[in-house]
Amino acid sequence: MSLKIVLLPGDGIGPEVTAEAVRILRNVGDHSGIPFAFRTHAIGGAALDAEGIGLPDDTLEACLGADAVLLGAVGHPKFDNRLPSERPEAALLALRQALGGFANLRPAICYAPLARRTAYQPEKVRGANLLIIRELLGGLYYGEPRGFEASGNTAFNTLIYSRHEIERVARVAFARARERRRRVASIDKANVLETSRLWRTVVTEVGREYPDVALEHVYVDTAAMRLAMSPTSFDVMLCDNLFGDILSDQAASIAGSLGLLPSATLGGRVDLYEPVHGSAPDIAGKGWANPIGAIASAAMLLRFTARMEKAATEVEHAIDDALAAGARTRDLAGPGERVLSTEEMGQAIEDALVEARDRRHAYHAV
Ligand code: NAD
Repeated sequence: MSLKIVLLPGDGIGPEVTAEAVRILRNVGDHSGIPFAFRTHAIGGAALDAEGIGLPDDTLEACLGADAVLLGAVGHPKFDNRLPSERPEAALLALRQALGGFANLRPAICYAPLARRTAYQPEKVRGANLLIIRELLGGLYYGEPRGFEASGNTAFNTLIYSRHEIERVARVAFARARERRRRVASIDKANVLETSRLWRTVVTEVGREYPDVALEHVYVDTAAMRLAMSPTSFDVMLCDNLFGDILSDQAASIAGSLGLLPSATLGGRVDLYEPVHGSAPDIAGKGWANPIGAIASAAMLLRFTARMEKAATEVEHAIDDALAAGARTRDLAGPGERVLSTEEMGQAIEDALVEARDRRHAYHAV
């Protein structure tokens, strides 16, 4: 039986990085004999241009009937003056809601060969390997009421969380921590916000079910500072929708580029995989985009939806190997280093994947 994957390349660099993720998935599919059936649909600005709607019915229907959705990015400056509800980003929020995934997993790794390329002292970031778990369906981004008052001079949003929403994402965080270094830092602003007080209470209660996992509560402002000063002190960071959105971009600075970060959204009807970055209109169409975030998202798809842990690890190792061999897109290259295009980086990672496979076969043949 094949695995049905809906591709939503979207806008800007979305199609460029998605093509490289598909390259890797095709390679894994061909090698493993598990066929992946891909179908491509429009979303975001591309769909607004073609059909006048950011999330067309056929796109949504295809996604709901798929095993997994792999998205590139949405957004274009030409829609910037539109109301939030009429922008490409609204289509992504609507898709996330329809798919129902509430736990957004965002790993941030400092790849050893890139430690010197980050904004930090290499000895502070080397070895950093953290997993941000962002609650994706609640909080400030979805809370009602929201809007502008008639005067246009006052605007408001609602930050609201229920016990159920907090409990289910907390369970994901503790379960993932058990697969890692068994530490959860729950991020809140309990000294100011009522929602954070509830968040802290519920996470503490859920934590009692996982006595083997160490839990600490960290104010979001302290967390931001600790991410900069000692990112290795974190393992799993459990965040609400807003804090997770912001801290995961900060975590990108530990990795060295926003283009490196993948994500998986789990817990709903259909799993959604997408790089953390946006459509990067400033570099779209130039072949400068780093496809690693998209490729690492494909590796997460192999792990969580296809249950192909070995293949997922092999893809992640291929990324390590390509970086260790000096493969650099423009965002990663230092002075004098050769710069690869998006496509060349995808090819370098595919080559590393195939070479590692060949080495293992040669070893077993001896
Ligand atoms: P962005 O992530 O698109 O870009 C921020 C910076 O990072 C830019 O300088 C860009 O060139 C660089 N960058 C991003 N991805 C890169 C990659 N793969 N390789 C190399 N460099 C990369 O964020 P932005 O500029 O704030 O937003 C641009 C558009 O994307 C906006 O319309 C925004 O709403 C949208 N957006 C979409 C998503 C999504 O689809 N999930 C997420 C964030 C922003």
